[in-house]
Amino acid sequence: MVKGKTVLVTGSTSGIGKGIAEAFAMEGANIVLNGFGDPQEIEKLQADLRSRHGMAVGYEDTDLTDGEAIEEMMRRVEADFGGVDILVNNAGIQHVDSLEDFPPEKWDTVLSLNLSSVFHTTRLVLPYMRSQGWGRIINIASAHGLVASEKKSAYVAAKHGVMGLTKVTALETANSGITCNAICPGWVLTPLVQKQVDAIAEKQDVDQEEAKKILLSEKMPHHQFVTVEQLGATALYLCSPAADTMTGVPVTLDGGWTAR
Ligand code: NAD
Repeated sequence: MVKGKTVLVTGSTSGIGKGIAEAFAMEGANIVLNGFGDPQEIEKLQADLRSRHGMAVGYEDTDLTDGEAIEEMMRRVEADFGGVDILVNNAGIQHVDSLEDFPPEKWDTVLSLNLSSVFHTTRLVLPYMRSQGWGRIINIASAHGLVASEKKSAYVAAKHGVMGLTKVTALETANSGITCNAICPGWVLTPLVQKQVDAIAEKQDVDQEEAKKILLSEKMPHHQFVTVEQLGATALYLCSPAADTMTGVPVTLDGGWTAR
């Protein structure tokens, strides 16, 4: 299904992106990783993927808040891999503060990574996908792309923006063999969410397990973290023929978060 295709997963040195890259690697796709982290760990991740699955693995350390750097990255990936068949826009950050206290420079950074980078990678990948008559764009939005929470103004605004961009991309690519959908997870226990667990543990003076329970029960009727394996399998499904007519929609894996 995705064997031999090239998949660019932004923000794939950690958490959800890494899980999605592993899921595609297991199916024989070529992988382009992106994100930051310990260079030795990233080298090890590339070597692991290559040795376990035998396909080509690239790595781009591009800072996706920089539009020009994204253009250079996409040119390099096209030169090295021929083009991107499947684009997973996953890189994202969080900042938690009330509107009055929200640092304007944090707003700019969250918007430029969580929303504008999706615009740039998408616009740059479309000519190749159109030339192939096939392509998949998967935007990792969030339950916060559909509903809001306090103190997450930039994140919620960016993720709602990603939902809008997903719909426009779907409309502009209709009948071209390209689809664009969003995956909207609830809580996934990655470094991004661990920070929020730590904050609850400190503020409410409870241990890690109790802090996780508090976080989950506040938003998710189904008190279980979503796993990166579930998200990887969902991304693969969106690339399968079963999803050929599925475009412009949010796929929620949120334990009932947005059902109430
Ligand atoms: P994470 O912190 O584990 O990983 C984030 C990744 O993005 C890392 O690889 C990091 O290096 C990369 N990154 C950060 N800044 C970057 C930049 N400027 N340029 C390029 N790469 C950058 O986070 P995660 O929880 O795996 O989140 C991944 C995505 O999933 C995000 O878009 C997030 O909003 C979304 N999401 C997460 C959850 C959750 O509960 N963890 C829920 C819903 C949606």
